[in-house]
Amino acid sequence: MQTPLIDLQDIRKSYGGGDSPQVHVLRGIDLSIHAGEFVAIVGASGSGKSTLMNILGCLDRPTSGEYRFAGENVAGLDSDELAWLRREAFGFVFQGYHLIPSGSAQENVEMPAIYAGTPAAERHARAAALLDRLGLASRTGNRPHQLSGGQQQRVSIARALMNGGHIILADEPTGALDSHSGAEVMTLLDELASQGHVVILITHDREVAARAKRIIEIRDGLIISDSAHDNPDVQTSANPGALQAVDLRKRLSEGAEATGAWKGELVDAVHAAWRVMWINKFRTALTLLGIIIGVASVVVMLAVGEGSKRQVMAQMGAFGSN
Ligand code: ADP
Ligand code: MG
Repeated sequence: MQTPLIDLQDIRKSYGGGDSPQVHVLRGIDLSIHAGEFVAIVGASGSGKSTLMNILGCLDRPTSGEYRFAGENVAGLDSDELAWLRREAFGFVFQGYHLIPSGSAQENVEMPAIYAGTPAAERHARAAALLDRLGLASRTGNRPHQLSGGQQQRVSIARALMNGGHIILADEPTGALDSHSGAEVMTLLDELASQGHVVILITHDREVAARAKRIIEIRDGLIISDSAHDNPDVQTSANPGALQAVDLRKRLSEGAEATGAWKGELVDAVHAAWRVMWINKFRTALTLLGIIIGVASVVVMLAVGEGSKRQVMAQMGAFGSN
């Protein structure tokens, strides 16, 4: 039996306590996911799906219980290793796309690679290739508001794949889309799963969930059914192209050491600031005008102050005293 990529044991999450009443959102989740699986987690709104996804993606920590990623206890990882996991092992896709409004499709897709310290040329080429693969070759320069919902979601999938995206965590990826664009996004996720990515799809929609190979149902923070338990042979039909837990663990230990992307981040911050100023030219001009008026008034006040001081001194001089 291979090590599962993801192994949760008795994961619990509660909020509140102290003054506010305590809410138990996850109440003991046991779950293993292997390389190459396409899993849907389905449940009504408020059942704890997003909370579970945040824990799976190491965006949040459970209140109790054990999470093993590729055999490693996540609670024991240091901040570099956790950052590596979020940046390079997982790829996130959200209902609201979460794209940067001032960036082009190309720049949005490149964003995760900047944090990984990928050289600019490699980054540009890879982002262009991904956008091409997702049918957006003619839209690389468009900003999010110049794209349809389906296209924006495809940009966000390209972004999720930028650093590898071995495990795609998609939280209601079709929730904001019409049925046609929704079907396109589902076909894409299907393809990614058959290429060896682990796809974890979170949805409240049973029809959407039916596209996955394995369906897990969650209600009030507990797993109430798992199709892998009903027919276990489906689960183990792992894709030979899938990155196994051992490979990922090796990359985790190597990848976390080789950080040092601060230069890229700095250049990107300056670049982003410049871009925002350029896009909002009118606002930038007004701000500049404000600064000029402010500085000029200070200069005038000082000059007037100095002038009146001299005048007073001159008058005093006229009285014959110094
Ligand atoms: P789903 O994604 O299945 O709709 P969520 O995981 O977002 O559900 O939320 C599950 C429950 O947890 C909800 O009842 C919600 O009110 C509660 N919850 C989520 N986040 C917080 C929080 N930060 N503080 C308190 N309660 C929360
Ligand atoms: Mg949710």
